[in-house]
Parts: sequence; C-alpha cells; structure tokens
Amino acid sequence: MRPFDYRRATDARSAVAALDGRPDAMYLGGGTNLVDLMRLGVVSPETLVDVTRISCGAIEESEDGGLMIGAGVRNSDLAADPLVRRIHPMLAQSVLAGASGQIRNMATVGGNLLQRTRCSYFQDVTKPCNKRQPGSGCPAREGDHRNLAILGHSGSCVATHPSDMAVALAALGAVVHVEGARGPRTVPMPGLHRLPGDEPERDTVLEPGDLITAVEVPALPFATRSRYRKVRDRASFAFAVVSVAAALDVEGGVVRDCRIALGGVAHIPWRAERAESALRGSAATAAEFARAADAELAQSRPLRQNAFKVHLVHNVLVRTLVDLAETP
Ligand SMILES: Cc1cc2nc3c(=O)[nH]c(=O)nc-3n(C[C@H](O)[C@H](O)[C@H](O)COP(=O)(O)OP(=O)(O)OC[C@H]3O[C@@H](n4cnc5c(N)ncnc54)[C@H](O)[C@@H]3O)c2cc1C
Ligand code: SF4
Repeated sequence: MRPFDYRRATDARSAVAALDGRPDAMYLGGGTNLVDLMRLGVVSPETLVDVTRISCGAIEESEDGGLMIGAGVRNSDLAADPLVRRIHPMLAQSVLAGASGQIRNMATVGGNLLQRTRCSYFQDVTKPCNKRQPGSGCPAREGDHRNLAILGHSGSCVATHPSDMAVALAALGAVVHVEGARGPRTVPMPGLHRLPGDEPERDTVLEPGDLITAVEVPALPFATRSRYRKVRDRASFAFAVVSVAAALDVEGGVVRDCRIALGGVAHIPWRAERAESALRGSAATAAEFARAADAELAQSRPLRQNAFKVHLVHNVLVRTLVDLAETP
C-alpha cells in the first residue's frame, strides 16, 4: 500500500474544506471497503480524511414519524436499533444480511452507500476495466458475469451495486443529506446511484468532495409489514446473488400500496416501479404477485451466465410478497 496522510475531521464543513480541490484525498468511514481497495491498488489516495468523529452518529425520530440516521452510525447500531426494527424491519434485516458482525461494527451508513462494486475485474488491477480505468474495456461482458447485472447495464459496464442496505433505503424512498463545496443539499433514493451508461466510473450523482451527513427515511406506516430477503452463495459473509426489499399494505385482500426494490441485479439498487404499479389495487394473491414480477422483469436483459437470476428474482419476489400478505 502506498503511504498516505491521515487527518481527522471534527465537523462537516472542515471535512468538505479538507477535500476541496484535492482529487487525491478521500473520506474514510469504517475503512472496510476503502482500505481493501487501497491494498489492492485500485485506489491510491494521498490523504484520508476520517469522518467518523463528526457529529453524524445518531438515529433520531422526526415529528412526522420518519427517521434521521447520521452517516456515521455504525451498521451494527442501525440493525440493532429498536425503533428501526419496529417501524422499518426490512432496513434492519438488510443491514444484518450484509458482511459479518466484525465488519458491521466498523462500517458506517455513509460508507455502506458508497462502497464499490465487487466485480472481480474491477478489483484486479492487472485486468482492464472501464470503471477503474475509463476506456480500457469491460472483460466481464464476455467473461465471468454470473453475479452481475440483468437490468439497466450498458455496453461499457455490467457491474452490480453491492450494498444490501441501499436496496431497503431505495424501497423506503430515503433522502440522502449531503454537504458539498456549495453548501448542503438533498438527493433522493432512488437517484443517488446511477446506471453505468457511457460513464461507468461514476457510481453516483455525487460531486467530488461531497460528504454524506445523514440519511432521512420518511414515515411509511405500512412498512411495519416489510421484509428483506437475500439469496447468496453462502449462508453469511457473501454479497447478494439477488435480493428483494418489500413492504405491503393490504386491506380486505386488496393491495392498497406497496414498495419494492431489488438488489444484485443492476448498477443501482433497483426500485421495481413497474411491479409496484401492477400491484396497487390488485388482489393480494400469488397469481397477481407473479404478474407484477413478470411486469418488472419484462425489461431484463440477462447475460450468457446469469439468466437464472431472472427466475430467481421472480420466485424470491413472489415468495416475499406472499409471506407479507400472510403476515397478520
Ligand atoms: C468480506 C466483506 C463482506 C461484505 N459483505 C457485504 C454484504 O454482504 N452486503 C453489504 O451490503 N456489504 C457488505 N460488505 C461491505 C461493507 O458493508 C462495506 O465495506 C461497508 O459498509 C463500507 O462502510 P465503511 O464505513 O467501512 O466505508 P469505507 O470503506 O470507509 O468507505 C467506502 C467509500 O465511501 C466513502 N465514504 C465513507 N464515508 C463517507 C461519507 N460520510 N460521505 C462521503 N463519502 C464517504 C469513502 O471515501 C469510500 O469511497 C462486505 C465487506 C467485506 C469486507
Ligand atoms: S462490469 Fe464494470 S466493473 Fe466489471 S469489468 Fe466491466 S466495466 Fe469493470
């Protein structure tokens, strides 16, 4: 690993000022992804600005029943929070489904949202990769892409976004609070992460030096009936092959409202808007859930090795919705 300077920021403004005009500097959260990438030589910042000590470490309930989660909140604290578990079970479940206990103790909410893809070519500096080195090519497209995208990919990149938590936050319509060189602003989810298009090197809409300070989760009363279900190759310590975050509002056997997002299928946490539209007002039955899954997956474009994901997402989504419909 190349030598680097380490600084500790005490507040958001000084953190942003420390990165202003410094493309060689990066924020450091728990370091569980960034330090790995530095070891691999994927990134080589000259300066790391530690943002874990600025006042972004609380989970607070807002007056309207929403949540404000500081960017510095550790993943394990978020998953264990009694309020989060009660009003947004799928958010707590999504965090618990990720990584390991030790990593969740270190990892922060801000860092989790901005972790990089686990595409093996991206992590191997001896291979070309458009995301790591724009214009160098995408060997995954014709190579090993079993775990990569079936939705929204481009000729430039077929990578998937790795965060479980981001899938639940996309389903919940979270709002990301950002401090930038020109002051504070908010970015809605979905909308933080971007499809690869011709610029796969850009994972998100954030500008260089933007600091995530908090994530706001608006009130969604029916999310007490929600679930995150993840399929992975091992029982723990593995990224999603596919995942589903879903919340269902059923009355008299009819779907009044729902929220659905998919993980492991795209460069972004994929909000399943077509499935949601198909479900609203329909009977809460397995047949209607299957019809909604078909509506979403009609736009899938599987690659040579990952057509199985289309069937897997379909089945996991239907099963999850059936379980939610049967939840008292
Ligand atoms: C073996 C292993 C298995 C894993 N399995 C899973 C899994 O199954 N599911 C899952 O979701 N995750 C998994 N993870 C990923 C883990 O959750 C992430 O590494 C972690 O969430 C990143 O958080 P961090 O605070 O350590 O980020 P860091 O590594 O510190 O930072 C990640 C990125 O975010 C930037 N950053 C950090 N904080 C901020 C901020 N406040 N504002 C702006 N930029 C910021 C950094 O500059 C860096 O680019 C796994 C990790 C490992 C090592
Ligand atoms: S899929 Fe994306 S991250 Fe993977 S090799 Fe291709 S360009 Fe790189």
